[in-house]
Amino acid sequence: MERIAVFPGSFDPITIGHLDIIERAAPLFDKIIVAIGINSAKTYMFDLEQRLKFIEASVAKFDHVTVDQYEGLTVDFCLKNNAQFILRGLRNPADFEFEKAIAHTNRAITNKGIETVFLLTSSGKSYISSSIVRDVMRNGGDYKILVPDVVRI
Ligand code: ADP
Repeated sequence: MERIAVFPGSFDPITIGHLDIIERAAPLFDKIIVAIGINSAKTYMFDLEQRLKFIEASVAKFDHVTVDQYEGLTVDFCLKNNAQFILRGLRNPADFEFEKAIAHTNRAITNKGIETVFLLTSSGKSYISSSIVRDVMRNGGDYKILVPDVVRI
């Protein structure tokens, strides 16, 4: 059976931290779907089309990595796409606590055995978050070292 993973997130915008997780997960799965979760309660700096474009260009070198969007529960998106795995990155203890609650919840609300797989961030990239990147961008800082080359404002 094909091993399919969904990598869900806001990706507002994709950073080299996200890309690091995708690159390191690439050999582990037959297919990875990078999935932008749409949360109508959130406001974003980059619109959906822009975020999709940035991710598509960043992962273009991988034939088995695709990009999609979804509304609703991540586990429902996984079931729809026959994905058995949810991929997430861990940067620090705060991520761990947050991710632990979500992973347990996802296991509790589906009986289809969807496993969350965590990869630790590479050393040197654990400080990077989209929210800090957005702050740097808004305030005219050098954001280019924090994002893939294709992400430009
Ligand atoms: P969300 O809104 O779901 O937190 P993000 O786009 O911020 O979406 O993050 C998506 C995933 O990428 C999460 O699992 C997050 O922990 C991971 N991630 C974000 N930044 C990094 C980084 N610098 N290194 C490793 N993983 C990261």
